[in-house]
Amino acid sequence: SPILMWFRRDLRLGDHEALTAACRSGHPVIPVFIHDEIVESLGAAPKMRLGLSVSDLGKRISEKGARLVLRRGKAIDVLRDLISETGAETVYWSRLYDPETRERDTSLKSALKDDGISVESFGGHVLFEPWTVETKTGGFYKVYTPMWKSVRDRDVPNDLSAPSKIDGPENWPDSDDLATWDMAGPMQRGAEILTSYCTVGEEAASDRLGAFVAHRIADYAKNRDLPAVDGTSGLSENLTYGEISPRRCWHAGMRALHDGKSDAEVFLKELVWREFAYHLAYHTPRITTDNWREDWDSFPWKTDERLSEVKAWKQGRTGIKFVDAAMREMYVTGTMHNRGRMIVASYLTKHLMCHWKIGLNWFADCLIDWDPCSNAMGWQWSAGSGPDATPYFRVFNPVTQLDKFDKDRTYTNRWIAEGQSDPSETARAYFEMIPQRWKMAADDAYPDPIVGPDEGRQQALDAYENRDF
Ligand code: FAD
Repeated sequence: SPILMWFRRDLRLGDHEALTAACRSGHPVIPVFIHDEIVESLGAAPKMRLGLSVSDLGKRISEKGARLVLRRGKAIDVLRDLISETGAETVYWSRLYDPETRERDTSLKSALKDDGISVESFGGHVLFEPWTVETKTGGFYKVYTPMWKSVRDRDVPNDLSAPSKIDGPENWPDSDDLATWDMAGPMQRGAEILTSYCTVGEEAASDRLGAFVAHRIADYAKNRDLPAVDGTSGLSENLTYGEISPRRCWHAGMRALHDGKSDAEVFLKELVWREFAYHLAYHTPRITTDNWREDWDSFPWKTDERLSEVKAWKQGRTGIKFVDAAMREMYVTGTMHNRGRMIVASYLTKHLMCHWKIGLNWFADCLIDWDPCSNAMGWQWSAGSGPDATPYFRVFNPVTQLDKFDKDRTYTNRWIAEGQSDPSETARAYFEMIPQRWKMAADDAYPDPIVGPDEGRQQALDAYENRDF
């Protein structure tokens, strides 16, 4: 009987434990992707980007002599339909660690088992399973640096190569046509521009890793902080859909380190920040929805999305150039430089005193590298409510940060059209994408700061001083 190989955020063929096991089993393999309840709830940019990835995976699977069966509906219903249509007795998938998926998978697994179906989940989305990394006294790491020290010398299994062919069943079940899913939704022209910034699929991800290691990893420690410089790997977009495995990235980093490129260690450390995010979400699922430190529940953050300062923040017209440039970069490209993420998050939660969840949700709508665990950790880290977080009283000054990290204003000029006689294509693209109801034009005057750096800092510090915990 066939095995249903259910692809989710593991949209690759190489270094894929579950697929390799399915192909080695001797049973026919039916690769499946489901537009399920979790896909349904994705934000606009990640959903569009996921559609591109599914399309690429479908092509790669057909090159291996098989098909990617596409179905839409609640995962349990679709799997049961496929089981009865194909006679499959086994379902394989790669494990995910965000609370929403875990909860769904747990109940799905027990429902299928009750039906007499064998379900097997595999690793591969993280380097180290969350239950395998423990402090000396037991329990998970709540602080990053000791976790890094405990894993840096661990053996990480070597890459599994992609199967040379995938043997499917004699009769294939019906498949939806991906185009009918309309993954780009109402984005239209926006989707076209956003797509031009995407680097999609397994082969492109692998090339990206290769180029990064060959040309940029040697200066990564210095350049990774400069938003105008293409100094980082850009791999978060691929890692989040599993177009490349973290293990391949790890081994590439290790090889570079052994070749004498000492900055590669900083890259390896970043990969472990990703692990830290997954491990935290696994052990404390509330990190994706609630203050990780519960005492922050009483902090007087503003929660009303309709506030004018929230709108200004989302629209990139706070009058603070670093913030606005970064927000526009995200709107156009679906990614934002890490320095930008820290600055805009600090500005929203400290200068504007708005709840981090407002930012978390906006990022979930706009980021093509949206990741439920890294996003939650990033927001709670920035807001001060998370584990190993930057203290709330450490308020980034978005003006001095600009002098430090974008001295010649290359980055802000790239994204802010107002005030420039001949704005760059990127700065103009923003105005092509935003909704008309925002009533913004490239030749508007650039706004004055809605909350200035010093004023906002003082407000935030006062609120912190007067907190009741
Ligand atoms: P590189 O610098 O090349 O780093 C290599 C890889 O390490 C990245 O691809 C990523 O997988 C991982 N990594 C690097 N920094 C972090 C970090 N701080 N936390 C977790 N993993 C990290 N990252 C996401 O992948 N998805 C998100 O939704 C996300 N939201 C964020 C929200 C906020 C408020 C903040 C402050 C950070 C967020 N990050 C998120 C982390 C980080 O900004 C991105 O991973 C990074 O900018 C991606 O660029 P890169 O691939 O070029 O990274």
